[in-house]
Amino acid sequence: MALTYACHGAAREVTGSCHLLECGGRRILVDCGLFQGDREVEAANGEPFGFDPASIDALLLTHAHLDHCGRIPLLVRQGFHGRILATSATRELVRVVLLDAASLQVEDAAHARRSGRNGTAPQAPLYDIDDALHALDFFEPGIGYDQPVEVVPGIVARFLDAGHILGSASILLDVSDGDARRTVLFSGDLGNPGRPLLRDPTPAPPADHVVMECTYGDRPHRPLPDSIDELFRAIRETTQRHGNVVIPTFALERAQEVLYYLHQGLREGAIPAHVRVFLDSPMAISATEIFRRHPECFDRAFLHRLQHGDPFAMEGLHFTRSSTESMAINNIEGGAVILAGSGMCNGGRVRHHLKHNLWRERSSIVFVGYAAEGTLARRIVDGAASVRVFNEDIPVRAQVWTINGFSAHADRPSLLAWLGELPRKEVLLVHGEYERGMRCFANVLASRGLSARMPRRGERMALA
Ligand code: ZN
Repeated sequence: MALTYACHGAAREVTGSCHLLECGGRRILVDCGLFQGDREVEAANGEPFGFDPASIDALLLTHAHLDHCGRIPLLVRQGFHGRILATSATRELVRVVLLDAASLQVEDAAHARRSGRNGTAPQAPLYDIDDALHALDFFEPGIGYDQPVEVVPGIVARFLDAGHILGSASILLDVSDGDARRTVLFSGDLGNPGRPLLRDPTPAPPADHVVMECTYGDRPHRPLPDSIDELFRAIRETTQRHGNVVIPTFALERAQEVLYYLHQGLREGAIPAHVRVFLDSPMAISATEIFRRHPECFDRAFLHRLQHGDPFAMEGLHFTRSSTESMAINNIEGGAVILAGSGMCNGGRVRHHLKHNLWRERSSIVFVGYAAEGTLARRIVDGAASVRVFNEDIPVRAQVWTINGFSAHADRPSLLAWLGELPRKEVLLVHGEYERGMRCFANVLASRGLSARMPRRGERMALA
């Protein structure tokens, strides 16, 4: 059986996930994400896919993060007309994510045109709202976890809970060609076990080939309770000195999880009762609503809590959808906890809050997520003395906290636990920085007698 795999994104990098599997003339794509980082990284978004989109039979989407779904509108515009399959929750979230991405791109392009910059930003958006809406038409009704679906004749997919964000899945493909049969498992992004809202990732089932993420393949995370304590301490110390706390937050999952912890902290008196919490992200607000509609994804303990009242609701919590409400936050000098996107600070409202708080010694910036190379978040995390925000140099005087225990990505022990001890022919490592998570994780696998390949972007390989 001639089975081939080609990596068209998240190859020795953490964004742009795009994987092509071919067998007997059938072509299945898993994820079609946006490259995110500095301008050089993002330039890849405008380049050809490396395959003919019209030739793809189906696209299977692991989850709604932009670096996994953000190029779907481009794929459709360039001729893709196959099926798109995803879980019900992913399908709802992806709508919010793609429409938001489209409007941001339109805004950025208009801004670049107005400021007359040449060669520094794309002058035309990658895609617009119409493209995003058109792409959404290709999504079929949501797939339930653990239910086999025939994608094309001879290829059956099963979506397994990946415990990463709401609706996230690993995808097991059962490929047959005549009498030959082979299984390929795509991990998608894997979450951490023991989180309060979502279920633990489903351990990897038997599979011949495993295409696996390894973002944190080089290290364990700090224990979650320590991270929650540190978050509460950051809020206590900052509000005591009358500063604001800015939390750059990913709209899907992290925002809901942090809200849940804040709710807990207020109830237990671990953070002062007078703090005002702002969820300043229309996308995070929509995602929170979608969250409430998908109890099939919840951890049992969280379901139980849900029956005893809204786990996100708290005194002093404001959802600020409009930009007027958002701008009013800029007048608050102390006592506010502001959750805003994007998590990596390369777009969205958080940049306004950084502009107003980075230079203030009394304020704190609290990072609770991954900061990819080349992003504004990474520069602040790495200790830049000043950063550029909206074409202005802003000195970094606020206290910077990096709390990594909240990561939505499995750490090394959890990745190994997910993979388990089952026999595998081989593991293909994707979605990891080569010098950080990836090489280190490849060595760990080698020490366990598992061969790991690390495909480069565009590399096509036979799965023997
Ligand atoms: Zn993800």
